[in-house]
Amino acid sequence: MPSFDIHTHTSIFSDCSFIMPEDLIRRAAEVGLDGIAVTEHGMRWPDDKFAELEGLACAQDLVLINGQEIKTAGANHKMEGEFLVFGLRRSLTGNYSAKELVEIVHAEGGILIAAHPYKLSRGGRSHYYGAGDRIYDLQLDALELCHPGHDERAMKKVRTAMDKTGFPGTGGSDSHKLSDVGACVTLFENKIRDEEDFIREIRMGRIQAEKRK
Ligand SMILES: [Zn+2]
Ligand SMILES: [Zn+2]
Repeated sequence: MPSFDIHTHTSIFSDCSFIMPEDLIRRAAEVGLDGIAVTEHGMRWPDDKFAELEGLACAQDLVLINGQEIKTAGANHKMEGEFLVFGLRRSLTGNYSAKELVEIVHAEGGILIAAHPYKLSRGGRSHYYGAGDRIYDLQLDALELCHPGHDERAMKKVRTAMDKTGFPGTGGSDSHKLSDVGACVTLFENKIRDEEDFIREIRMGRIQAEKRK
């Protein structure tokens, strides 16, 4: 099954990452991935720059997907979690609540995945960097199941939510350093040639999540 790491950050557009895009591609090929998605914080790679990167990926037989990771907040700036967004032609730079984000992304033909919904924040128990139980109230397309910040307990919560909502589970490393690339992956039942295939197969739930280290 083709394996994709669908959650990565590069130092070009995510200040918190130490990964140069060229190294990301080289590393992805080294660890045997078939594809990779870049999901920078709050923005999507500009098309011209992304096309250059795609050229490098193509030479390594890797499929490259241009996504973004968007933070949401509701009234009183209360955090409502982060979401991986794919299929949009623009960066989502505004301030959105989780519900607003879902509406915008779907209106523009894209998909959303709740990023690390049960990754604990410093607030401790039941304070999450992700959407937490809010995933039950949102019309999402998938939930990130395998993530380095998800322990067994968090994964159990995501599996329960997958059962109840019918959303499929994805895997992504959320890499900010090179050695993490491919730590968690999404396995596709069918060949993925481009973004169109990628989005359709996630929507249809023809995927599995896997933790590799
Ligand atoms: Zn995140
Ligand atoms: Zn991330």
